[in-house]
Amino acid sequence: MKGREIRKAFLDYFAQNGHEIVPSSSLVPADDPTLLFTNAGMVQFKRVFLGEEERPYKRAASCQKCMRAGGKHNDLENVGYTARHHTFFEMLGNFSFGDYFKAEAIAYAWEFLTKVLGLPKERLYATVFREDDEAEELWRKISGLPAERIVRLGEKDNFWAMGDTGPCGPCSEIIYDQGPEVGCGRPECAPGCDCDRFLEIWNLVFMQYERDESGNLQPLPKPSIDTGMGLERIASVMQGVQSNYDTDLFAGIMQGIAELSGKEYRESPEVTAAFRVIADHVRAATFLMADGVVPSNEGRGYVLRRIIRRAERFGRTLGLTEPFLFRLVATVVAEFGDFYPELKRAQGAVEKILQIEEERFLETLARGLEILEEELKSLSEKGAKRIPGEVIFRLYDTYGFPYDIVRDIGLSRGFELDMEGFERELAQARERSRKSWKGGLTKAPEVLKDLTERLSETPFVGYEGLSAKAEVL
Ligand code: ATP
Ligand code: MG
Ligand code: MG
Ligand code: MG
Repeated sequence: MKGREIRKAFLDYFAQNGHEIVPSSSLVPADDPTLLFTNAGMVQFKRVFLGEEERPYKRAASCQKCMRAGGKHNDLENVGYTARHHTFFEMLGNFSFGDYFKAEAIAYAWEFLTKVLGLPKERLYATVFREDDEAEELWRKISGLPAERIVRLGEKDNFWAMGDTGPCGPCSEIIYDQGPEVGCGRPECAPGCDCDRFLEIWNLVFMQYERDESGNLQPLPKPSIDTGMGLERIASVMQGVQSNYDTDLFAGIMQGIAELSGKEYRESPEVTAAFRVIADHVRAATFLMADGVVPSNEGRGYVLRRIIRRAERFGRTLGLTEPFLFRLVATVVAEFGDFYPELKRAQGAVEKILQIEEERFLETLARGLEILEEELKSLSEKGAKRIPGEVIFRLYDTYGFPYDIVRDIGLSRGFELDMEGFERELAQARERSRKSWKGGLTKAPEVLKDLTERLSETPFVGYEGLSAKAEVL
């Protein structure tokens, strides 16, 4: 089954079961300053769940554009390294607003997976929250799964919350066993393990509470259901491939990268990772820009900028040193433009902005490389073997120069990096920027800000959320 067929089968199934099919909302959440990006299907229904808004329907289903880079759910660093994470992905979901609850949610999910999609029951597991006896009992009755395949897990995996405050509740994840050859092989590998063997495909959230500012749980007026299943993950299961990136949803983009680079997807582990990072990031950048985000030094625009730069860096691994991402936009639009017509409308603008951004960055990259060369030369003359944190920071700060490029080049010439010094400089810069920061959260004026920025060459000042230890810029 192709990705687009699964998307349709899902929406058709829930429409037949009385659900209103609601179009995806924007990746930029409408009037929710607490949230950087839409990161789940339920985001557009938040006020309905809270009982603050009435809709003419009590059950809905959607295929929602989601972004998990920056903010609470941040999967950016996973991209390229796990088979199942993207920054941008599509989340299939069904929702009940005070209508049905646990029993029906479990029954629908089970029927859709085993009857409509025909997945073998022997490969499926259900997890429930440690204290949720009710859910365990329901799973046993409805699915007939044996006790050992209904697993209790703790808060980390089985208690869902949208943010630090807001709707939350115990959840139940459906897991597909991809087989021992996919896993980490450790004896303790079991559902809940971070490796790719026990693939979480669907999360059913039993929304019972709202968490307030002081962390207290208040019961919601009407218990509700919020579910989310990653389209790319279920597509990988249906297509019998072990990575989301090997599904038909990415085939056209991979083909495009192969044509531009002259490399073949999966010819070596390094090339595989680069293809995946680039494919993910160009897709994310295209969707973000089609929703009005433009590269900038702050907030959403800054996350977009980092995504583009990270793609650029992996492009270098494939020998791509000229702007290339903008040439891949058409492959994204070809796969997703029918379902998301905003991509078709934005294509021309997205290509232009991306090209300008790439040119600008590659220029600073070139300048940064020159400076790095000079530094390495003078260090060598002094007989030094360690690149000072101050130098790494200056390259990053003034040229937006990803420190991992410094690392790659430094290591290949036998230098080590003073990352502690870099962290120290970063912390000081962050402090300075915090003291001088007067504004609130910026929204629409991002476009204007970016224009101003382009007219006057401003230094790179995006420090927030960056830690040299954790991030690969
Ligand atoms: P994981 O534990 O694998 O990181 P999660 O528990 O964070 O996933 P949920 O918040 O439960 O994910 O989201 C619901 C569903 O969305 C998941 O079951 C999965 O199918 C999908 N999903 C979540 N994060 C991603 C991602 N980064 N890329 C692709 N699909 C995702
Ligand atoms: Mg996650
Ligand atoms: Mg999980
Ligand atoms: Mg989950």
